[in-house]
Amino acid sequence: MFSEKAKKNADACRFCWMCRHLCPVQLVTGKETNTPRAKGLQVSMIERGMPMEKDCGKTMYECMLCGACTNDCATGFDPLVFIREARTQANVLDIVPPEVQKVIDRVLETGNIYGAREPKVCFDGLPETGETLVWLGECARYSVPETAQALFVIMKKAGVSFAALKDEPASGSALGDLMGFVEDVRAQAAKAGEAIRGSGAKRVIVLDSYDAALMLHEYKDWGIGLPEIVTAAAFVDGLIREGRLKPQKDGGVITYHDGSRLARDLDEHEPARNILKAMGFEIHEMWQNRRLAKCCGSAVARQFMPDIARRVAENRWNDVKRTDAKRLTAACPQSTEGLRAAVPEGYQYTDLFVLLKDHL
Ligand code: SF4
Ligand code: SF4
Repeated sequence: MFSEKAKKNADACRFCWMCRHLCPVQLVTGKETNTPRAKGLQVSMIERGMPMEKDCGKTMYECMLCGACTNDCATGFDPLVFIREARTQANVLDIVPPEVQKVIDRVLETGNIYGAREPKVCFDGLPETGETLVWLGECARYSVPETAQALFVIMKKAGVSFAALKDEPASGSALGDLMGFVEDVRAQAAKAGEAIRGSGAKRVIVLDSYDAALMLHEYKDWGIGLPEIVTAAAFVDGLIREGRLKPQKDGGVITYHDGSRLARDLDEHEPARNILKAMGFEIHEMWQNRRLAKCCGSAVARQFMPDIARRVAENRWNDVKRTDAKRLTAACPQSTEGLRAAVPEGYQYTDLFVLLKDHL
């Protein structure tokens, strides 16, 4: 049922308490089943003959796949391996919670978690082929289009010629989080790879860190060839350092949220901070930052457990309140979607690319 790797990780986690204090879901629900330890215990019991039932399926979806547990593990274990496989098993056994199944069905039907047919981003005048391709991802295309629109403006102001795909296909990242890395996910990834190669791009500027992480970590293993992949923050930071963008330096005090996949899967922390400094901002850090950042929720999770995802975002805002900054920013559309929906009174959230666009 589970791979040897998943069994080994589950058997290690099932009696261990060492990372539970970092789990953003357990921190807001207080439920023991939301700890990595409890999920490991359930998987190890299933492997020893316990039937996997609906409650267990639901438990496996009460996780942001944020990697805070994995990052903190002194012994090198990775709960995401068995949690993803448990989601695959839940699909095989047809015990996926109905609210999750609705999102899976939407992705399979429309290619995105929102069930949207048309992007909200304006692609007027943009070519579909060229050496530089901007890859937006579904969150920017359908939920927070201002992040995509701001990136387009920034690139034009820097004199970068670029292409973007009006019919950009799914990368596979959302379905991979919903079902584990099954054949349907690899098929979506293969189609995305074809679209990228078809654009003639030699480099791809990826706005959504979930897509960038999947492309950089899984596509190669799946035999999907890609040109150079660069995150949008790293690319824009480079444009500023080359002198192609000269932001106004009128910033004040701000704090920066490191999105989980950007900070841990991609180990990228400084480009966004460099962009903020170029605008004259003084960054007052939250106590959990860079690789230790607390997750603010994912776009996928917000679709099937909106209440928990909102509380997770509010809990991240509690970290902001412990600084003296009244402004918050982040560099991934998925962070922007979650954090802007939970802004406390007296505070302000602005996406990093929107902030930079307004400083040019
Ligand atoms: S990931 Fe590491 S620290 Fe966390 S429960 Fe597993 S073994 Fe323990
Ligand atoms: S990946 Fe994140 S949400 Fe899931 S068990 Fe680990 S710390 Fe908790």
